[in-house]
Amino acid sequence: MSPLAVLNASQLVTLSGPKRPRVGTELSALGIIPHGGMLIREGKIERVGPSDEIEKNVGDAEVVDARGRVVMPGFVDAHTHLVFAGNRLDDFERRARGETYEQISKAGGGIWSTVETTRAASETDLLAQAKKHANWFLRCGTTTIEAKSGYGLTADAELKILHVLRQLNISAQGRDAIRDSRIASGRLGRQDELGCKMLPEIVPTFLGAHAVPRELSPDEYVDIVIAEMLPRAAAEKLAEFCDVFCERGYFNIDQSRRILSAAKKLGLSLRGHVDQLTNSGGAMLMAEMGATTADHLEQTNEQGIAALKKANVQPVLVPGSVYGLGSGRYPRAREMIEAGLAIVLATDFNPGSSPTPSMPMILSLACTHMKMSPAEAITASTVNAAYSLNRGDSIGSLESGKVANFLIFDYEDYRELAYWFGMPQTHSVYVRGECVPRSGGL
Ligand SMILES: [Zn+2]
Repeated sequence: MSPLAVLNASQLVTLSGPKRPRVGTELSALGIIPHGGMLIREGKIERVGPSDEIEKNVGDAEVVDARGRVVMPGFVDAHTHLVFAGNRLDDFERRARGETYEQISKAGGGIWSTVETTRAASETDLLAQAKKHANWFLRCGTTTIEAKSGYGLTADAELKILHVLRQLNISAQGRDAIRDSRIASGRLGRQDELGCKMLPEIVPTFLGAHAVPRELSPDEYVDIVIAEMLPRAAAEKLAEFCDVFCERGYFNIDQSRRILSAAKKLGLSLRGHVDQLTNSGGAMLMAEMGATTADHLEQTNEQGIAALKKANVQPVLVPGSVYGLGSGRYPRAREMIEAGLAIVLATDFNPGSSPTPSMPMILSLACTHMKMSPAEAITASTVNAAYSLNRGDSIGSLESGKVANFLIFDYEDYRELAYWFGMPQTHSVYVRGECVPRSGGL
């Protein structure tokens, strides 16, 4: 793989700064180098600086002329439900006609319909659909995706989904291996001729407690999650995180605590869907458990925000699901920022409430409905998201030593990213120093 020199960026948005999640006014400090450039070797950033300086050190590097465009780190999406079969088009249309969730559920819709189609799908079919989704993310500029299980709700079906996630990462590594062997044999072809596809990195999360299966009571199901699913997922090292849907009608505080405690003992880090529909004390629970993140938080109050701050839990806000459900109750981002929380933005990509892989869309929602500034939204969807996935030292900013995941936008000013909406945004996307072919990565 030949070295790469990126020159003539109107703004090289580096996000350089303290080696920890950013809070308060740090969220607005993007570390922009006007007329910037960077040098990349072996898929990693070797150096960033003024374009003129980088140009002096180009040597034999292949030059990417950004021609006055914005260059920034790839987005890190810290909350998605990447793997499922089918879609929820019927629910979408019923909701558009004004039907309630209960009516839709009675008509055979809701999460249960996705569980049934996902249980029935083969691992091969699920992998094919997940690759299609992953390609959408790449095209929108997301180069790292946290992805949850949760549409299986039996041990075998949950493990099947986690195996699909592992398979996605193996495919990405396999592609790198083929490329490396071609370099070794002197047969390095064009990037889009490698024969297998470019993929973002996947960070797997076990979300067996996404809903209670129809055939069991909540407590019976929690017992299975703890006694069977978690130990199997941990033994095969299929997940880095454990998540739980803590909500009325799903898993209450005690049940969620039992699952998260069991996961912690097995060495998993914790995330949680909390306070989405009701303020059930979910944020307090995530603080008590020492979770890495507390996600959703649409209904969280001041006490919940204070508890998250005290316990150093990162809030992951997902305005796409508020928009997708047609609700106006966006999470209180400003209060969280003022309280000193290291805020993260994510898509919550899923077939029911947030069918979008687009982080630029989320940035637009954050700025228009949550009163975040474009700079705060960019920090929340890159470096802060990387820290929330325990990857702050390797991705999320353009700094020497980090993986060369970066984006070029046909904009002169980074604020345009959150300003224009409803159109394709990326000019080009680079993963590990390689350009994703324009025809799509997959
Ligand atoms: Zn979710």
